[in-house]
Amino acid sequence: MTTVWISPSATSFSCLCEPCLEQARAAGVLFSEALMGASVRGELAADVEVASRRCAAGHEIVLRRVARPPSLRHRDERQMALQ
Ligand SMILES: [Zn+2]
Repeated sequence: MTTVWISPSATSFSCLCEPCLEQARAAGVLFSEALMGASVRGELAADVEVASRRCAAGHEIVLRRVARPPSLRHRDERQMALQ
């Protein structure tokens, strides 16, 4: 699962799906093609704090406004480091 931090005033986002990037890397796909395949864009209402989207391959992407407790972000970073 990918977590994307959205700035407080943003109403759209663009990010990369981490599982898609990993799969493309494992399959030996060209990096530029991997980036295109993992790219996810969308819109987010200004008053939405947390939302989720799916990439083209169906992986969940969680969108969070940056105005969250710092401890949440630290936990996410540790989880990512363990993968
Ligand atoms: Zn994906």
